[in-house]
Amino acid sequence: MPQRPAPIPAAPTGPPAHATPGTARLSALGTHPERGLESAEAAARLERHGPNRITERKGEGPLKRLLDQFRAPLVLVLLVAAAVSALLKGVVDAAVVLGVVVMNALVGFVQESRALQAVQALGRALVSQATVIRGGQRLQLDASELVPGDLVLLQAGDRVPADLRLLQARELAVDESALTGESLPVEKQPDPLPADTPLADRRNMAYASTLVTRGAATGVVEATGDATEIGRIAGLIAGAEVLATPLTRRIARFTRVLLVAILGISAVTFAIGLWRGEPLGEAVLAVVALAVGAIPEGLPAAVTIMLAIGVARMARRRAIIRRLPTVETLGSTTVICTDKTGTLTRNEMTVQELVAGGETFQVSGTGYAPAGELLAAGRRAAADAHPALRECLRAGVLCNDAELAEQEGRWTVQGDPTEGALLTAARKAGLDEAAERAAAPRLDAVPFDSAHQYMATLHAGAGGGPPVAYVKGALETILPRCVAQLDAAGGEAALDAAEVRGWGEDGLAPQGLRVLAFARGTMPAGQVALGHDDVAGGLVLLGLQGMVDPPRPEAATAVAACHRAGIRVKMITGDHPGTAAAIARQIGLADAEGTGAEPVTVTGRDLEVMDDAAFAEAAERATVFARVTPEHKLRLVEALQARRHVVAMTGDGVNDGPALRRADIGVAMALGGTEVAREAADMVLTDDNFASIEAAVEEGRGVFDNLVKFILWTLPTNGGEGMVIMLAMALGVALPILPVQILWINMTTAVCLGLMLAFEPREPGIMDRPPRDPGAPLLAGALLTRIVYVSLLLCGAAFAVYAWRLALGAPPAEARTAAVAAIVLGETFYLFNCRSLGGAAVGAFSNPWVWVGVAAMLALQALFTYAPVMNRLFHTAPLDAATWGWLALFGLALSVVVSLEKRGREAWRSRAARARGARMS
Ligand code: ATP
Repeated sequence: MPQRPAPIPAAPTGPPAHATPGTARLSALGTHPERGLESAEAAARLERHGPNRITERKGEGPLKRLLDQFRAPLVLVLLVAAAVSALLKGVVDAAVVLGVVVMNALVGFVQESRALQAVQALGRALVSQATVIRGGQRLQLDASELVPGDLVLLQAGDRVPADLRLLQARELAVDESALTGESLPVEKQPDPLPADTPLADRRNMAYASTLVTRGAATGVVEATGDATEIGRIAGLIAGAEVLATPLTRRIARFTRVLLVAILGISAVTFAIGLWRGEPLGEAVLAVVALAVGAIPEGLPAAVTIMLAIGVARMARRRAIIRRLPTVETLGSTTVICTDKTGTLTRNEMTVQELVAGGETFQVSGTGYAPAGELLAAGRRAAADAHPALRECLRAGVLCNDAELAEQEGRWTVQGDPTEGALLTAARKAGLDEAAERAAAPRLDAVPFDSAHQYMATLHAGAGGGPPVAYVKGALETILPRCVAQLDAAGGEAALDAAEVRGWGEDGLAPQGLRVLAFARGTMPAGQVALGHDDVAGGLVLLGLQGMVDPPRPEAATAVAACHRAGIRVKMITGDHPGTAAAIARQIGLADAEGTGAEPVTVTGRDLEVMDDAAFAEAAERATVFARVTPEHKLRLVEALQARRHVVAMTGDGVNDGPALRRADIGVAMALGGTEVAREAADMVLTDDNFASIEAAVEEGRGVFDNLVKFILWTLPTNGGEGMVIMLAMALGVALPILPVQILWINMTTAVCLGLMLAFEPREPGIMDRPPRDPGAPLLAGALLTRIVYVSLLLCGAAFAVYAWRLALGAPPAEARTAAVAAIVLGETFYLFNCRSLGGAAVGAFSNPWVWVGVAAMLALQALFTYAPVMNRLFHTAPLDAATWGWLALFGLALSVVVSLEKRGREAWRSRAARARGARMS
């Protein structure tokens, strides 16, 4: 039994949180200022308040979505038709039409709900994390585990996990647009405010779901879940997922145009029928049949479902799609701009070489385990014998927020891997972190951010001396701030900037090592706070540390696959150009043509002085962009897009939002990135791995292929059926297929046969062709021709079979059943042709779903033909075995014709390609 905790004094009694001093709020909430809540207390509160989650309010209720299914124009046409035929032909036909409409709506509803669920579930799969202090320890928790009274640490890039009363804030700015609509970030500070301050002006509160754009802070949780401000207005953030994509919109538009055209043709047909003196009932039936048969009304829904299936496939390959249209865009991607650290490399840093006091030290050992030693000129070096080395390592330990942890012999880092590596190096040299930290307690810190490229901490001076600031960061940032450097004996000597630059640029960076420079500065006595100005100059350089971050083993393969697929890969990094170029070389980034070319490298500084034309040229040509800032990323995306590229861009930082949003596909990281970046992204990689982008592109191409296959398969049914009716009307003969039968064909074949194409595996060689031009029509040339002639064949077969059965003396019901079976079997055989787009052979059983669908289709068709109730409802009659045999033969013949056409085309294409090749050589 959990212990009954003391009740938390509720906020409504007494002044509101923002009008109370922070310390008073802490005691009111029963929180220890340093230790936070104890874990037993937190567990008890979790039980009482429930998880920190907002109850989801659905954007649209299931009932509304079900009713929406009946709002489709075609359904309306059908409903009118049902009413007319009830008047003219009795209620049975009308009832069947109505039944089919309802069934159709139900199937549509179920499928759409599944698609919606799949997309929503993926959104939820990305839980956000929160950093809290519990029982005196800093922990990373699932944000849903937070309870009132928890002490929470915020830093730039975080999403605020609950409503917080701020206790300390350092340059904190929060984007509250989710809550207040105010687009500019709001500065925050912890002092109490008047009780009547409106929500938007409560500078000492941070509200759940807003985003930290700058600075760092500590706060205590005031409210969680539905009790938060955002929870109260949760209607706003109800996850109303939009399932429409550019493609489904294009198709919906196409269907609407088709609908109008068909209605026009129907009207003409109707008039002709009446003029010929046909009975009104027959003419109405024909028009309904035409409308039903010729309009591919299920197409947009089917496309949505196929995209949703694609989303699930991509999730299995570690790419979570946040917006459905991304699935389409992936197949057209022509450039991928990717971060280096953590995406192309493992983000597992190990200091390998140090330069301090003019001496170079090699460090042995890999990973974060402090097993290894420092060697100077091949001899073991202890830190105590090298004062400059010691001070450089010491700076690495003090100016550091990471912790090393060992679990079952495995060493890991809590915090920034770069900083973890510094701790490991210091331990290898015999430094004791705890002792160093105790000897120089930290007074204040300027946190690291990519824009400033350094971090600084202020420490109490030893023996009551003046406080000391330790600074670490990029060499170019630190060096200009230094006026002296440590010599080997630990004394301060004049700075030789060229020499120091040489250590980094000629020594460490070309080996692909990430270089960090270290410096210190003495501050005036009594200073307890540190700002950027305090470390802007007058520092003493302590040394450099170079760390390896090996490329991910799969990166080179994925880059090569992209190159084969006509996709350019560009590295965009905050790191040094030398380091970046070395890594680019290792993974073959510059080698799209296999010529062993060197990576073209451009730095942020180069970009800054370029005019637009030069910038655009550099964006196109260079493969490595080093020391770039988020603003450069945005300009790069725009420049590449102006050159008609479809750009995927990765980003993990707070300031990457605009570039991620602007890119055709913004890619964020689930493990390493900030919440801000994830929020702006279209796709999130669950393993932060570049190879997952390549996998997603591959899947995207596969999904698009399957969509085209589906459309290629489905349109001839509509075409064939439409032609049958129009021809019958034009010739003034009885309909070989009745409207309800057409409804039957459309409904059963799309679900049993067509949708199975969504499970078609990717075709071999899918990454050997160039990206799809997003502006190109979906169907052109060969595919369009195929749709037309298959339609003609189906139409011809329906007429021929109908006439043939009648000629043999069969009653019309039997002749029509045979005509329907001809179309269904034709579609069944044609399905196998549609399993590949070009001439590629596909394994008979590589998509078992096709066989399941075919079996289901045949079973339904048997029911349609032989079940007495179906005979009555659909005006069908049993067929004999010989008829089935002939019909199957027709299906087979159709399939053979299509495969001969495909082969012929393929042979012609490869001959043309060979001829081209010969001409060029
Ligand atoms: P990418 O953009 O590929 O992720 P990156 O991680 O190297 O590259 P940043 O994190 O912006 O880019 O780092 C830029 C530079 O800042 C690094 O090259 C390094 O010199 C310095 N740096 C990185 N991390 C820290 C840190 N924790 N403290 C101080 N300086 C750092």
